[in-house]
Amino acid sequence: MFDFLSMKKNEAKHRIEELTRILRAHNHSYYVLNNPTVSDFEYDLLMHELDTLEKLYPEYLSPDSPTRKVGNDLSSVADTATELPSFPDNGIVEEFKQYPHKYPMLSLGNTYDPSEIYAFNERIQKATDKKFTYSCELKFDGTAICLTYTKGILTRALTRGDGAVGDDVLLNVLQIPSVPHRLLKGGNYPEEFEIRGEIYMPYQAFDKLNHQRELNEEPLFANPRNAAAGSLKLLDSNQVRERGLECTLYHLIAPDLKAETHLEALAMAASWGLPVSEHARECKDMEEINQYIRTWDKKRKSLPFATDGIVIKVNQLDLQRSLGYTAKSPRWAVAYKFKPEEALTRLNSVDYQVGRTGAVTPVANLDPVQLSGTIVKRATLHNAEQMELLDIHLGDYVYVEKGGEIIPKITRVEISRREAGVPEAIFPRDCPACGTRLVKDEDEAKHFCPNSDFCPPQRKGKFIHFISRKAMNINAGEATIDQLYSKNYISELSDLYKLTREQLLTLDKWKDKSADNFLKSLQESKQLPFHRILFGLGIRFIGETTARNLADAFKNIDNLMKAGREELLATEDVGEKLADSLLDYFAQPRHRKVIEELKEAGLQFSENEQEKEPVSSALAGKTIMITGNFSVSREEMKKYIESHAGKVGSSVSGNTAYLVAGEKSGSSKLQKAQKLGIPVVSEDEFYKIVETEQHKSK
Ligand SMILES: [Zn+2]
Repeated sequence: MFDFLSMKKNEAKHRIEELTRILRAHNHSYYVLNNPTVSDFEYDLLMHELDTLEKLYPEYLSPDSPTRKVGNDLSSVADTATELPSFPDNGIVEEFKQYPHKYPMLSLGNTYDPSEIYAFNERIQKATDKKFTYSCELKFDGTAICLTYTKGILTRALTRGDGAVGDDVLLNVLQIPSVPHRLLKGGNYPEEFEIRGEIYMPYQAFDKLNHQRELNEEPLFANPRNAAAGSLKLLDSNQVRERGLECTLYHLIAPDLKAETHLEALAMAASWGLPVSEHARECKDMEEINQYIRTWDKKRKSLPFATDGIVIKVNQLDLQRSLGYTAKSPRWAVAYKFKPEEALTRLNSVDYQVGRTGAVTPVANLDPVQLSGTIVKRATLHNAEQMELLDIHLGDYVYVEKGGEIIPKITRVEISRREAGVPEAIFPRDCPACGTRLVKDEDEAKHFCPNSDFCPPQRKGKFIHFISRKAMNINAGEATIDQLYSKNYISELSDLYKLTREQLLTLDKWKDKSADNFLKSLQESKQLPFHRILFGLGIRFIGETTARNLADAFKNIDNLMKAGREELLATEDVGEKLADSLLDYFAQPRHRKVIEELKEAGLQFSENEQEKEPVSSALAGKTIMITGNFSVSREEMKKYIESHAGKVGSSVSGNTAYLVAGEKSGSSKLQKAQKLGIPVVSEDEFYKIVETEQHKSK
């Protein structure tokens, strides 16, 4: 480890530059070449060292240092790269700007029929006497993007839109690690060029996202493609970073490019640091194309991301140019789509599963059948409407498909094999678990059991949610809850805190140690902040973020329980549904009793005020804007302002009391502040103002 303090200034500068270079190279190997050159641990150490040095010597902090999170600090990047548009400080935009595509963004003609690939080949052969080849590439199943680089800097990222005009989602694309903000130094790239490709979400990130959404009771994404497209359209770029998107680029558009073939062009793009698929191959005839298709139709099943076909392009750029375009698509390319694998099997029965939230899902029990390398026994029928559309009868032969979805689904019925007199599968009117009449909101596809307090799966689900890692983090699993529940040891959440060691030791395979661990984690859960408990209660529609917002706004459970509809609706992110859900929940005496008991058990039902108690009221009622780099991090600066009872604004407006301008401040903000007559002060001046005010108030 370095002895940072005895380091001389020029040594620090040198080391910062060195670390920046090393980390950039590692990022490139990791994200672009998919070939990590160091372990995560070593990488973290280097990153930590750089971060420490930058804090000690902020004068050497480069705006595009690998340590900087893009979302919050872009305004300073904008100053060094004049082509970059300016971004909101908090990374949230109100809407996307739209721009016309320089060249229309067409879609490819695509086919499931191999004979059309032969016809395509014949058309190309007729069009030229010269020798030519094809480029075969995997077709990534994501959402299309068109990137513009100006002088080596990413300046625009347009979605396909309607093909003529797209949304500029640059701020979001900047959150995707494999997309370079700057091309590699020394790259011989054109002054300005476009490159098109696909933004996609690998299966792992997709599963993680949907799992999270399930916990938060948000609607799930049907497949990785939808999830990628949805993520790219988020207005809050901070959220995009967590979504784990990836990018692959496949079409370079640069009029003066010194490349003869498409594959050469892609290799050039890769040499500038751009992510290009490593699976593209040159094929000289139909035989090689067929070979490529056959290989990948198998191999794609083990790829960590979704692909839905092969794109075949004429490789020679001059031939591409002479073939040109139809109104809809290029004449020099075609997409062959893989058939989604399906299997025919018999449907034996339908289960209606009641989830933690009371949603009822029909699940088909099938004769086991082989599909995409796994044995499938169950498939989802989604909801009542879908069952009606399919006209499902018990004993029907049905087609099962895996597609991009995780759970196999039934796509159609083989009516010709239906036996006479078999009964229709009818969605139940009452809850299969507790018999309560099901309800269905008009804007939701699913039926719900409203009996959330007594319906067994919902009740058990409440415990499982309460003990989960993101809530109370209690050292137990579903099986333990099952046992405690069936032994009648628990019926309300508060009963968990009444469990005795003797009771625990009666559980299957429980010894002293497991009981100790369980009791210890119960004790520890009493230290968790209010918002975790609020989330843990499992009130419908309250996810982690909402719980945090509510805890921030109301400070304690009593205020929240007292709050009326209007007051709830005035809270960030609280809509009608959520307000009603809260009111319903607190209106029930049994819930109030549980909360009372949990309080008595020692859980935190108010925000820890001590931490948030302001140091002084020097900035009370004042909104402060900050821009640029300070001797402390932006986060620390924000905390400093809040600790003196000030508010940090998100944009310069008439209400702004001061604009604190650090080094490399955003010029647009300075101009705006001057226009509005708002005092612009330096970091040091600002500290002096706060001190003076503090003295005054004493
Ligand atoms: Zn029920």
